[in-house]
Amino acid sequence: MQLTKTIILKLDSPDNNLEELLSVFSQGMNYASQIVFANGKPMGSGRIQKATYGHLRNELGLKSQMCCNVARQVAGAYKTLHEQITIKQSEWQLLKFGPMSATFSFERDFGFSKDALSITTLAGRKKYKLQIYKYAERYFDGSWKYLASKLCLHRDGSYYFHLACEKDMPDKKITDASTFMGVDVGINRLAVASTTDKKCIFIAGGEIKNHRDIRSKERRRLQKAGGRYLGTRSSMRVLRNLAGRETRFMTAVNHTVSRRLIEFALENDVSVIGMEDLTGIRERTNVPKEFRCEHSSWAFRQLQNFIEYKAGEAGIAVIYVDPAHTSQTCPRCNHISRNNRTGLAFRCEKCGYETHADRVGAMNIEHRARDWRYILESQGGFVSPPDATRFCT
Ligand SMILES: [Zn+2]
Repeated sequence: MQLTKTIILKLDSPDNNLEELLSVFSQGMNYASQIVFANGKPMGSGRIQKATYGHLRNELGLKSQMCCNVARQVAGAYKTLHEQITIKQSEWQLLKFGPMSATFSFERDFGFSKDALSITTLAGRKKYKLQIYKYAERYFDGSWKYLASKLCLHRDGSYYFHLACEKDMPDKKITDASTFMGVDVGINRLAVASTTDKKCIFIAGGEIKNHRDIRSKERRRLQKAGGRYLGTRSSMRVLRNLAGRETRFMTAVNHTVSRRLIEFALENDVSVIGMEDLTGIRERTNVPKEFRCEHSSWAFRQLQNFIEYKAGEAGIAVIYVDPAHTSQTCPRCNHISRNNRTGLAFRCEKCGYETHADRVGAMNIEHRARDWRYILESQGGFVSPPDATRFCT
């Protein structure tokens, strides 16, 4: 499996050289853009380069690698335009480029030395200190390959380097796996995970639940008001803002939770993570429709997607299992009954097995994920696990 990622790194002390660079680079792109536009259809970067090299090199003073990068970036932009035309989302037009970004090629005109980015500017090779956050450190451990990347001027006036990198991940065989982990996502606990070795982690969602309750109360109040005033513009706007804030908040929470779960999986040598197939979760909930937080099923799926992506990066496989009765099934004897649960306590009415009720779901998911291995083994390993990508909506 090929993983690709773009990491955004802020430059600590940009100078005028960067401004000049982006300005001349965009002039070069606009020059190339006119040639492609006049051509009436997209051109490959090799042809663009041939047609523009003399002007870019001699008139604008771009370095020779930059001339290639200009051609590449313009070819890419017109290719995207062409794709949009194909689906009737756009028409043939002259693309204009502001002084917002410039492409660099690894080892040709950009590289790293310690925590500094080294790039070729019009004034020669220069170094800029980067702010490397903790999460980004692993992209510098030597296992990643760097691709063509961009220097960008963001709207906040700061310069950022959009480092594109890729890594080959060996495809792990599920039949070789020995340690599994079931992950149960829910409202009371954001996530509970349990491994084959009976290691368990609870990630509480108390604070988040409150936050969400307050938000949905606010939302209901506004929706009511909206009804009374026939959806006044201001109430609609507030509703939209609320949704945006909530989305950003849940996304941040899901990033934190998924990161913690993958750390836990790595600490415990987990090679396969099982999760519930949540397709249709909306239909299964018993909550009256008007009280249902419309974001919750979206948030669960996003959390699963984050876990799946981060698991992939860590070389851990993910499979989705049937979610039926995971919280009512006895992890020891498989007896299914509503009576097995009383509040936070789980006690199997048949065999007497006892544990914390929130943990049962994760344990059963772990069992079902492990069952997959036996099914695979018995069928000679030719059956692929349930298609993970199916659920990435
Ligand atoms: Zn039992």
